[in-house]
Formats: sequence, C-alpha cells, structure tokens
Amino acid sequence: MAQIIDGKKISAQIREEIAAEVAQMKAEGTVPGLAVIIVGENPASKVYVRNKGKGCAEVGMYSEIIEMAEETTQAELLAKIDELNARRDIHGILVQLPLPKQIDERAVIAAISPSKDVDAFCVENIGEMMLGTADFLPCTPAGIMQLLARSGIEVAGKECVVIGRSNIVGKPISQLLLAENGTVTICHSKTKNLAEVTRRADILVVAIGRADFVTGDMVKDGAVVIDVGMNRRADGKLTGDVDYASVEPKASFITPVPGGVGPMTITMLLKNTLTAAKKQK
Ligand code: NAP
Repeated sequence: MAQIIDGKKISAQIREEIAAEVAQMKAEGTVPGLAVIIVGENPASKVYVRNKGKGCAEVGMYSEIIEMAEETTQAELLAKIDELNARRDIHGILVQLPLPKQIDERAVIAAISPSKDVDAFCVENIGEMMLGTADFLPCTPAGIMQLLARSGIEVAGKECVVIGRSNIVGKPISQLLLAENGTVTICHSKTKNLAEVTRRADILVVAIGRADFVTGDMVKDGAVVIDVGMNRRADGKLTGDVDYASVEPKASFITPVPGGVGPMTITMLLKNTLTAAKKQK
C-alpha cells in the first residue's frame, strides 16, 4: 500500500513559513504585493484568480485583481503591464491564461518584467532555470519538487519518467528532476511502447490531461507516482491522469487528486511573490 503524499498538508506548512517571512518583511516596512490580470469572462479562470487572491490574504500579502473586458486589445493589456512593472508596491505580476484570441500570449508574457514574472513563464526565467540560477521556478513543477523533498524522497540517481512535455509542466519538471541528479526520460504522444518506458520509473510524473490514463500494469512495484492531471468527470468530480485504484497498491508513494499536486501551485506562486519582494527591496 502506498504512502499518500498529502499536498494540502505540505502546502499549509509552506504557507505558514511564507506567512512568517511576510510578517517579518511587514515589520521592516514592505508588504509583498501581487497583481493578477484577468481578461474576459472564463469561469474557470475566475475561480483560479479568486483563489490566488485568497492565498495572498492568507499569508498577509497584498493582492490586486485587475479585471479587463473580453474585447481588450493587446495594446491596452501591454499598457496595463507597463504600469504594473513601474509600481513599487507590486512585486509580482501574473496574467491569467488563456487570453482572448486577439491577444498574443507570448507578447504579453514577454512584456512582464522578468523580476516580476512570478509564474516564471518568460524566456529569461526559463533560461535561468535551465542554467540552475533561477530566482523563480514555474509553480506546478516547483510544487512537485517540494512534495518530493518534504516526503523524504531522494531524486539523485533515480530513473525519472515524465509523461507530457508542455511548457508549464512536462518540460520544466524534467529539468528540475535533472537538476536534482535524476536520470530523466520524457514521454509524449509519439512515444513508442510507453508502458515499457514507464515501468522503468522509480519516479513517475504524469501530466497528460487524460482521466485515469496510467494503469497499474504501467507502473513498477515501489514506484513514486506523481499525478498532475486535473480532469472533470461527467458527474463533475475531479480526477487525475492516474487510475488510482490500480496504481496505488503498487506504488510506494502517490499523490491523490484532488489534494496532491493541485494545492501546491498557488502556494509556490506565493513563494515566488515573496522572493520577488525580497529581491526588489
Ligand atoms: P498539455 O499542454 O495538454 O500537454 C499534454 C502533454 O501530454 C503533451 O505533451 C502530450 O504530448 C502528452 N500526451 C497526450 N496524450 C498522450 C498519450 N496518449 N501518451 C503520451 N503522452 C500524451 O497539458 P498540461 O498543461 O501539461 O497539463 C497536463 C494535465 O495537468 C492537465 O490535466 C492539466 O489540467 C493538469 N495541470 C494541473 C496543474 C495543477 O496545478 N495541478 C497545473 C497545470 C496542469 P504531445 O506533446 O506529443 O502532444
């Protein structure tokens, strides 16, 4: 039977640590501040943005949610980012994705000052991550590394297999595992004999976006299984990319969905905002 990696508990611990540092900074006259821009009416995005605001409040940070209309032009959004780049009370800027069709996502990410890019999506921060010199790491992968570290799971020398190569999860988590001296294999939709590759994994990270895709026969006995997936079932329930019922009996550690990787993402955003505030002080 696997040990469950409790993302809610680990996230709460990290938030307590962040809150203590925020209190210290406040005593010294700086309140870390995060601006979150949302363009349009995407209901899922609205929930994410609200939760980011709540997260800031929980650790004592200032947050500002800027709602812009669906028909906002790229120039208007870039002007807003310029304004936030110049503000001294805002240390982190995040633009909630996806953006409406008329706006070029890459241009928007590139407009955020790298020192305020707390999502770590811009080219400079991705480059720093590759070099191992980053101040900010992308939030979901950074959260996974915290789950591993705080569960006492050593990465060095382990066979790490990542399924998925997105810019926000698969690629960066592969890089972070490599930086911790894992031996990393990245799989994707063109990978042949996927189950053969995944069965080699001591640490298996799954970020595909397909409900219950990884089954027990794809997992080695004793593997650590990290499920990044967040899929909605027809009945509205959240489920991961891993078939928990067949994988859990084989794994040594496993993250549940919900309550595994999910709670870590906003927590790492708060950590990045704190880091940004410290650097800009
Ligand atoms: P994405 O951009 O859609 O990428 C999916 C990746 O999975 C792609 O690289 C794709 O390969 C690969 N893939 C798809 N079908 C496959 C198959 N049959 N076999 C092997 N690989 C396959 O997704 P994402 O943004 O990384 O998100 C992945 C999941 O994580 C989603 O469920 C998402 O909701 C969730 N997520 C959770 C959090 C969190 O906070 N917990 C954060 C971000 C994402 P190709 O590149 O070849 O197409």
